[in-house]
Amino acid sequence: MIITADLSGRTALITGASSGLGAHFGRLLAANGARVALGARRKDRLDALAGEIGDQAAAIAMDVAREADIVAGFDAAEAAFGPVDTVIANAGIDGAGMATEMPEEEIERTLAINLKGAILTAREAAKRMIARAVPNGRIVMIASITAFEPSPGLVAYSASKAGVVQAARSMAREWARHGINVNTISPGYIRTAINDDWFDTEPGRKQIARFPKRRLMEPDGLDGPLLFLCSDAAEFVTGADFVLDDGQTL
Ligand code: NAP
Repeated sequence: MIITADLSGRTALITGASSGLGAHFGRLLAANGARVALGARRKDRLDALAGEIGDQAAAIAMDVAREADIVAGFDAAEAAFGPVDTVIANAGIDGAGMATEMPEEEIERTLAINLKGAILTAREAAKRMIARAVPNGRIVMIASITAFEPSPGLVAYSASKAGVVQAARSMAREWARHGINVNTISPGYIRTAINDDWFDTEPGRKQIARFPKRRLMEPDGLDGPLLFLCSDAAEFVTGADFVLDDGQTL
């Protein structure tokens, strides 16, 4: 079933759009009428996706671990399409490693991209939405079921995602009077570049076999809630988390 929403007139900035879920979100929002600014570090991949989508897409090189890049990314998005009213803070890395073995730098890198980067992206969006009196601002942050589930081997990652959920709730409260809604989606496991290697291993296959439906999710399992949260229809939804996991945590 194809779920649709009217996002015409909206301008969205999507981080982590060079791959996996972010590229899927870019295509999805554009197909539903939004102009999309596609952000990530690998510009060649963003250029290819923007070329595929057409004139309503722009490729923007940005590293969300660097605030200057985020500011420049929003500047570029505004130069291309005008004020941004919709943001998907999706960029992330896996930050895998057992807690006792993970180098300090890897813990820092995971938190810098997944948590600090998501907060900096959301707050740059909010600063501009407030300054430009954008009506119906929408910020959706991509967390994970690991925000709620003990996740051995993903200590830094799961902590970063729990941080995203709580940061989103706090930001939702800070910006509620400006009409900016901030929500999180916590997806279950979907095969992308972030976990491809793992799910090809024997322990990875066993993990899938333990899920109630014995399968991974597909990216389009997120489409309906994501489109809703980006739309005017989500006026009364802020500070909420949507666990979309095909029952993987049951
Ligand atoms: P992916 O295919 O590896 O995509 C990750 C994206 O993040 C890439 O576009 C990457 O682009 C970007 N990125 C990484 N570091 C960045 C940085 N410093 N600055 C800007 N962009 C950066 O993985 P994915 O599964 O689509 O992941 C997308 C989000 O969904 C992540 O936040 C992930 O934690 C979350 N998630 C995924 C799953 C799953 O099972 N797949 C489940 C729950 C949550 P560049 O390398 O080009 O910068």
